[in-house]
Amino acid sequence: FPNMVVPLLVGRTRSLNSVEEALANEENLIVVFQKDPQVDDPSFNDVYSVGVAVKIIQSVREQTGVMKILVEVLDRVIIKNFIKDKKIYSVVTEKVIKEPDEKNKEDEALVRFVLELLDKYLELNTSVPKELYTTISSIENAARLTDTIAGYLPLKLKDKAIILQTIPIKQRLQVLIDILNSEIGVLEVQKKIQSKVIKKIEDTQKQYFLSEQLKEIQKELGKEGDSDEVTQLRDKINKINMPKNARDKAMEELSRLSKTMPLSPEATVIRTYLEWLISLPWDKKTEDNLDILHAEKILNEDHYGLEKVKERIVEYLAVRKRADQLKGPILCFVGPPGVGKTSLGKSIARAMGRKCVRISLGGIRDEAEIRGHRKTYIGAMPGRIIQSIRKVNVNNPVFLLDEIDKMGQDFRGDPASALLEVLDPEQNVSFSDHYLEIEFDLSKILFITTANTEFSIPAPLLDRMEIISLPGYTIWEKKEIARHFLIPKQLKEHGLTDKNLRFSDDTITRIIRNYTREAGVRNLEREIANICRKVTKKIVETSKEGPYSINLKNVERYLGPEKFSSIESEKEHKVGVATGMAWTEYGGEILFTEVLTMKGKGNLILTGQLGDVMKESAQAALSYVRAHTAELGIDEDFYKEIDIHIHVPEGAIPKDGPSAGITISTALISCLLKKPVDAHIAMTGEITLQGKVLKIGGLKSKILAAHRSGIKKIII
Ligand code: ADP
Repeated sequence: FPNMVVPLLVGRTRSLNSVEEALANEENLIVVFQKDPQVDDPSFNDVYSVGVAVKIIQSVREQTGVMKILVEVLDRVIIKNFIKDKKIYSVVTEKVIKEPDEKNKEDEALVRFVLELLDKYLELNTSVPKELYTTISSIENAARLTDTIAGYLPLKLKDKAIILQTIPIKQRLQVLIDILNSEIGVLEVQKKIQSKVIKKIEDTQKQYFLSEQLKEIQKELGKEGDSDEVTQLRDKINKINMPKNARDKAMEELSRLSKTMPLSPEATVIRTYLEWLISLPWDKKTEDNLDILHAEKILNEDHYGLEKVKERIVEYLAVRKRADQLKGPILCFVGPPGVGKTSLGKSIARAMGRKCVRISLGGIRDEAEIRGHRKTYIGAMPGRIIQSIRKVNVNNPVFLLDEIDKMGQDFRGDPASALLEVLDPEQNVSFSDHYLEIEFDLSKILFITTANTEFSIPAPLLDRMEIISLPGYTIWEKKEIARHFLIPKQLKEHGLTDKNLRFSDDTITRIIRNYTREAGVRNLEREIANICRKVTKKIVETSKEGPYSINLKNVERYLGPEKFSSIESEKEHKVGVATGMAWTEYGGEILFTEVLTMKGKGNLILTGQLGDVMKESAQAALSYVRAHTAELGIDEDFYKEIDIHIHVPEGAIPKDGPSAGITISTALISCLLKKPVDAHIAMTGEITLQGKVLKIGGLKSKILAAHRSGIKKIII
């Protein structure tokens, strides 16, 4: 800015040459702002058109090649263009601006305002010396005043450039006012933040000093004082009956707490830990009701059928009654969804007069979910086992572990092995949670696990469990369950009685057959609830209490069109289609194997969700047929002219295979002989190359599935 003496560093070759040239000819230089400092070789469009003329007072060349010059700034100049020749920049036309001398009344008001802002600015920005104000306020000329302020304050380069570009004095003052205002705004915010931070630090320091002082005072008074909190916690620990190691640990942590600053994060960690220790049911338990007749009554009250399962449970209770501590096996209920695994567990708890907790293990991958995180982690907590025990607040609940077959395993550890420690009666007397660090006795808990399939239960766990299968229900069983359990339950839940809503027998059958297709009764219960809801709405709307009766005619009005048609009525005997039975974790299923031949060169095409086992079955079936063409009455070279396509629309679990060998063979032979297969027959069994059909698993599920689909005859 004019009237200043400033040092400049010159580095770029063309600039250096320009300086040399000016020095040699005793000429002045013109200095301009570059619009974008990153541009290395600027042309006219890259620089602001208003610059300043400067006179070089001193120049020193450094060893690095850079030149340091001291210049006296003369006047603003407007440049119209410049030429870049090989060596230097030379200005084409320039116009020197002479600043006016006279004072203007209006300017005077603006000048005062500028000075006011400057004062405020210097107050806030401690990096600029305050004396600047005295120097600047003594400048009479408004133009010079603005330039000096712009020159000395650490403003943004862009702001400085704008001030330099603004030639009319009044406008220049206004621009400066805007810039100062915005700078002051920023500085004020900065100051506010800073003072907040300082206040925080001061507060914690104050706290620390006060608590230290308090401790000293208490020492002087002769009582090594405990805070209220510590005293209260000690009382609590003394009141409850903890095992010795737990009490020792609690006391140790308590003494640590008394030495920690109350509001520090560490104190919070200790406090939470102590709360956990105090709130666990170390010696709280419910008395078992081991009355066998009572238990039988309750089990029958809650569940229809399941005789074997109920018998096993009653046996268990009987043994419990004779031998006090029972390191019995862990019961594992295996079966498709909705067969009553979970509700059976709950009813065992009710029969024994115990409380019941339930956690689902589905999708658990992290060992810490079972066993907790170490205290040192921020936000650490005990694992789910201990959490649940705290929630039921007794140490002998019935503990339901659902979906034990859906547990995962990855880099965060193996939850199955942690679970083993929980379940194993040899180990769980002293189960140690990572967070608690001390042992908790889990041996009084009755663990019951549930799974859809036993195949995916980790082997060591499976080893310690007694599997009780609940394969699913027949239509008659479901009807009984609906009549005696599901309907009364849903009526009650909807605030209805049998005076409001009635189901006819054949309606229930229709709901089972045409609105659900499942091994269990979960969807059945849902459909019944659906009807109850609609009837409740009607009653509330019309105030007519009913009874509403659901019959074959109006059931569609409540539930919509049938979701599953009776396969029976549709079925026709088809060539190349055979019905198989498969077992899946959701119960049994029937599936249709289709075979088609077309002109070709003897290729075998396999599609559908075929696992490896199924693919091999298909190969075996084809080989068998080819080896027995004579007996079967098929042309020996049949395969040479055709391609065979085998398709199984849905697959079963790959491990077991659907035992589809016999189904595939039948469909294949049917296709080759062009004779239809009896559509009322379903079959299952793997085939060997000898033509033998092997034994199968999941028989009850498979039969139930066939039955559900209206099939009357099966080959096993
Ligand atoms: P799962 O745990 O096997 O998936 P649930 O225990 O959740 O199934 O059972 C679903 C519903 O079916 C529950 O309301 C349950 O009471 C009912 N239920 C299942 N089996 C029976 C049965 N044998 N007798 C009475 N109700 C049953």
